[in-house]
Amino acid sequence: MDLEIKNKAVIISGGGKGIGAGISLALANEGAIPIILSRSKITEEFKRDMDGKDYDFHEIDLNETDKINPLVSLTANKRGGIYGVVNNAGVNDNKDLESTTWQEFERSMHGNLTHYYELVRSSLPYLKKSKGAILNIASKTALTGQGKTSAYAAAKGAILALTREWAAALLKEEIRVNAIVVAESWTPLYANWIKTFGDKVAQDARLKIITDKIPLGKRMTTTKEIADMATFLLSPLSSHTTGQWIYVDGGYCHLDRAL
Ligand code: NAP
Repeated sequence: MDLEIKNKAVIISGGGKGIGAGISLALANEGAIPIILSRSKITEEFKRDMDGKDYDFHEIDLNETDKINPLVSLTANKRGGIYGVVNNAGVNDNKDLESTTWQEFERSMHGNLTHYYELVRSSLPYLKKSKGAILNIASKTALTGQGKTSAYAAAKGAILALTREWAAALLKEEIRVNAIVVAESWTPLYANWIKTFGDKVAQDARLKIITDKIPLGKRMTTTKEIADMATFLLSPLSSHTTGQWIYVDGGYCHLDRAL
């Protein structure tokens, strides 16, 4: 199937690791041009995966919001425009209600939300020309809560709201905006989080509790499964889909967990 995204530049925040890396690779496999924004260096494994593919990599801490706009302009000039934006970079930093000051709350919100806004705002003139697509990566925590991550849950909830708001705002421009809701996917971020549960035995026990509650297959969602959906939602083949929250979660958010 031709997804009609060959040679189209798509910016992916956090596109060098985890879910973002999966999306970069899936887009490159379809002939699109991933423009990867990441604060950490690209790994050798990812470099090998992307060998021979056309892509750009920019080292940037997206928390430094003012650096985003110039980078977007640079990309548009180099690549002759921008077709898509994937807002993906984020960290579940466990800022809980009881011990997090409002200053820490704001800092976390900034790190998980403000760059989503600025990346889209900066890309808008180019997306208008390309009639492109925006994809936001959200989290189940916005819908289910997690019990000790107030700022992250709030940011992810806002991202779902912005998906609807931007879809409405950009109807006339024919720019589509969708979100993917992720529940449990094995990535470097996830591996770091699971380490907070203790030694290997404790981590495995915790993992089993988690995967046992994922209805479809009792397993985590792979980054490829998320990336394949992302590629479709970005592509013109999903030309009448906008304002949607798509759950790539093995049924986690909607099916009976007693199943
Ligand atoms: P990951 O493995 O940590 O990869 C994310 C990448 O984004 C990393 O390279 C990270 O850099 C980068 N990044 C984060 N904040 C950044 C910033 N301010 N500036 C520049 N780069 C930044 O995470 P992931 O698990 O793939 O998560 C991707 C998205 O999915 C996130 O929005 C996350 O909230 C969401 N999500 C994931 C899961 C899951 O189960 N994995 C579940 C629900 C939602 P560093 O390595 O330097 O931190």
